[in-house]
Amino acid sequence: MSANNLPDYAPVPRSALGPALNEQGYYVGRVERNLYWITDGTYQSAFLTTSDGVVLLDAPPTIGNNIQRAVDEIASANGVSNKVEYLIYSHHHADHVGASSVFNKNVTRIGHEETRRLLLRDDDPARPPNEETFQDRRTLEIGGERIDLAWHGPNHSPDNIIIHLPDHDTLVLIDIVNPGWAPIYTSNLSEDIPGYVEAPANALAYSWKHFIGGHNGRLGTRDDVTLHQQYMADIDENSRKAIDTVDPTPYFMKYGENYWAALKGYLDEVTRVAAAPVIAKYTGVIAAADVFTESTTFWVMESIRLDLGYGSQVHP
Ligand SMILES: [Zn+2]
Repeated sequence: MSANNLPDYAPVPRSALGPALNEQGYYVGRVERNLYWITDGTYQSAFLTTSDGVVLLDAPPTIGNNIQRAVDEIASANGVSNKVEYLIYSHHHADHVGASSVFNKNVTRIGHEETRRLLLRDDDPARPPNEETFQDRRTLEIGGERIDLAWHGPNHSPDNIIIHLPDHDTLVLIDIVNPGWAPIYTSNLSEDIPGYVEAPANALAYSWKHFIGGHNGRLGTRDDVTLHQQYMADIDENSRKAIDTVDPTPYFMKYGENYWAALKGYLDEVTRVAAAPVIAKYTGVIAAADVFTESTTFWVMESIRLDLGYGSQVHP
């Protein structure tokens, strides 16, 4: 494979990109007061400096040891403790918490009870299970700072939570909205599409100005979240239209007893027809709409058929 033979895509809008990285490959910046965020351009984590030590929100392995470097940089500039005492898990996925074991065994790890169950199941030494858990809601008061944790049901993963910092005007919701960017494969590899589609409305129900989505290189705004909602609504609307209009007959005529070949031909065409107007509308608006919209549309279209029963007919 040569780079010259690879497909071209639309340019990435400048608005999708974040600040430049330093020589070590990270950027750390203030969100508000003593809340900071770190990015390597693709992943994000955040931390609070408090009188009870540092509270870290996620530990992506791609940022890895740069997390402590970023904490050290901020702590020494402000004359506060650089010791990570608490680590809050957004969800169990290795790409967001796989640097957990970099931190001391004595760090207090906090997350949803399902996160603990999944981490016990996965038995990955890089991700020690959180000892502290909650079911639906939990409010933490650490070093005088308030952190509200909430689980609204499964979405991207079964255990993905909202982390709200009301005194920092900030909401953390990972792997739902990638500010400035389209979701990657199948709606950010989501296990529960109805929950994924509902999640932005749950986020917008809170009061906040700054959004930490976990990807890519910049923070988000409420406008980023509503733009993502519109994108998903357009995929939904066009999927229903395509289910209604694409004729499966030619595929079953062509492939005869190979039902799977016919099904693939038909569903690929439904997906293509549904995604085309969405790609046209969002190219140049959100980055990589032309890269991943078909994959996300396929998964949304299947959810419309299977979760919602749209287009399902009982044999007469
Ligand atoms: Zn994830």
